[in-house]
Amino acid sequence: MPSTAPIPEAMPAPALPEVRMNVVRPAAPVIGRVVRNEICTASRKAAGFVRHIEFDVSGTPLAGAFRAGQAFGVLPPGVDPKTGKPHAVRLYSLACPTGGEDGAGAVISTTVKRTIDEHWDDQSLFLGVASNYLCDLCEGDEVRLSGPNGKRFLLPENHADHEYLFLATGTGIAPFRGMVRELLGRGCDRPITLIMGSPYRTDLLYHEEFRSLEADHANFTYLTAISRERDDNGGPGLYAHERLAMTLERAAPGLAEGKTLVYICGIAGMEAGVARVLTEALPAEALAPYLTITDDALRADPDAWTREGVRRGVRFGERVFIEVY
Ligand SMILES: Cc1cc2nc3c(=O)[nH]c(=O)nc-3n(C[C@H](O)[C@H](O)[C@H](O)COP(=O)(O)OP(=O)(O)OC[C@H]3O[C@@H](n4cnc5c(N)ncnc54)[C@H](O)[C@@H]3O)c2cc1C
Repeated sequence: MPSTAPIPEAMPAPALPEVRMNVVRPAAPVIGRVVRNEICTASRKAAGFVRHIEFDVSGTPLAGAFRAGQAFGVLPPGVDPKTGKPHAVRLYSLACPTGGEDGAGAVISTTVKRTIDEHWDDQSLFLGVASNYLCDLCEGDEVRLSGPNGKRFLLPENHADHEYLFLATGTGIAPFRGMVRELLGRGCDRPITLIMGSPYRTDLLYHEEFRSLEADHANFTYLTAISRERDDNGGPGLYAHERLAMTLERAAPGLAEGKTLVYICGIAGMEAGVARVLTEALPAEALAPYLTITDDALRADPDAWTREGVRRGVRFGERVFIEVY
């Protein structure tokens, strides 16, 4: 467990930058052109199909409009058979730093998982509209885009005041690829930890890229949590929050002093496990900047904490940033 030193009064609350929003609205999208579309799972044998896709938005109002952590809209072609209206916009997190993939904000990227399932009603094949449209695109294809979206899931204005704990599952890794590269690219020397949760090792995303960043930057720690496979020592599978609990002191050295900013992104519900780990690890006065918890929720068995219970019983504070979908 980290030290239980009281939070120094001078510790600044994270000041977030002013960001631009809805520069391009879904009703009047601009055209981006695909410049890259490639698999980004650790292996082609991964259980899911996930692709890193880059769009050239040069010459449009989207060029230079984003901050790391924001999302953009994709307008898939065609009509929703249920409503008879054009398909609605879908949001995708930016996977690149503020400067884009090219350093000038003209090429933006995201990480898309194909939504593939059996249809709940009749067992027919269910293919998500936008994710499969995006993953099928080839270099040179045109896409209708909007954005930027999101004004809170951002890095603070003054990055040197804080330490960073990023927890991702699945495509929740996208904004953290952008944020980690942004922080390291700006010379941030504060501790930065990324915990990536995935069902199988084959499904880790950008794995080699993060390992390489870790090798090059002493302040960056990259940890994985594989839930459906045993670890190298035959130990049980781990979820991201369980990896956090096991490595708290290393992953978030400044947590008890309120120095650490906690970012959670990925599968809806993952915030429940993180809330539980923080509640168990921190004394009340150190917990306050991260979350407050109702007496009822405190009395409930934490093993039974659900997404709904956390929504009702836990209020996340100014040092926690959540984007789950
Ligand atoms: C802020 C934000 C950021 C996001 N970032 C990313 C990202 O970086 N990468 C990413 O991949 N996604 C991301 N998403 C999710 C993304 O917006 C889409 O929701 C996702 O790609 C699925 O869209 P789709 O059009 O492929 O599926 P849709 O055609 O919209 O189908 C999905 C919907 O169909 C229904 N459905 C699902 N399964 C079945 C089934 N078996 N039978 C019947 N109905 C079913 C559900 O209601 C579900 O909502 C993000 C979402 C938000 C809100």
